[in-house]
Amino acid sequence: MTAAPTAPPRSDAESLETLAELVADGDVVVLSGAGLSTESGIPDYRGETGSRRRHTPMTYQTFMRDPRGRHRYWARSFVGWRQIRSARPNGGHQAVGALQTAGLLGAVITQNVDGLHQAGGANDVVELHGGLDRTVCLNCGDVAGRAELDERLQEANPTFGPRVDEVNPDGDAELPDELLDGFVMVGCLACGEGPLKPDVVFFGETVPRDRVDHCFGLVEAAGSLLVLGSSLTVMSGYRFVLRAAKLGIPVGIVNVGPTRGDAKADVRIDAPLGVVLPELARRLAG
Ligand SMILES: [Zn+2]
Repeated sequence: MTAAPTAPPRSDAESLETLAELVADGDVVVLSGAGLSTESGIPDYRGETGSRRRHTPMTYQTFMRDPRGRHRYWARSFVGWRQIRSARPNGGHQAVGALQTAGLLGAVITQNVDGLHQAGGANDVVELHGGLDRTVCLNCGDVAGRAELDERLQEANPTFGPRVDEVNPDGDAELPDELLDGFVMVGCLACGEGPLKPDVVFFGETVPRDRVDHCFGLVEAAGSLLVLGSSLTVMSGYRFVLRAAKLGIPVGIVNVGPTRGDAKADVRIDAPLGVVLPELARRLAG
């Protein structure tokens, strides 16, 4: 008597069918990451292009304690903002919007700070790590629009415009150090003095507790959790996969390359989101 043969690995077609069944059940909560925006020209921190980064991302500690580090961030960010602002949602973002309009998806929790979910037609988006489209004053707490800041920065820096050959997902650009001193930063308009911080969660910074709790509530009430374009490297997003798995809520993952959550996933597709998601939307929301 021979042992039962082990099941062969499932093909992508079978996985897509399983994923479609999961999403068709509805009440899906999405958790998205940088991989969803790479096809919009915003490079990934930790994915395939991550190793090509030439400087380390800004940390919360540096930003808060080092005025020169802060100045360097804003000089790079001023230049990088053109690319972030001109980025457009891709087929993956639009498919998420279409599936949500079809009533299959609930909230979208995103680790991205680029605003492309909203631009792609999604509603009920929770920006886990904040958004680059606004600033917060470190002195008075005033929240203001980035577009308005950009107008003030352009007035203060009419000739500051070095060539950009790379922009990072946190919205800053590569600039030689010697150019940074020529950049003029402006302060908060509300209190007239406070230094400004982009309203994003930097490396080394904690996501506000009420935001985390809100997301846990969304996941706990979900029919399933669908991870899109995240390697789940940081606990900030991975904890929601752990919570879903613990509660027996099915988890689907679509990502290029392995993720930390693969062992917890009920269905796993290793393929570009710009291919998988439009196909999913065509089947379920067409
Ligand atoms: Zn202020």
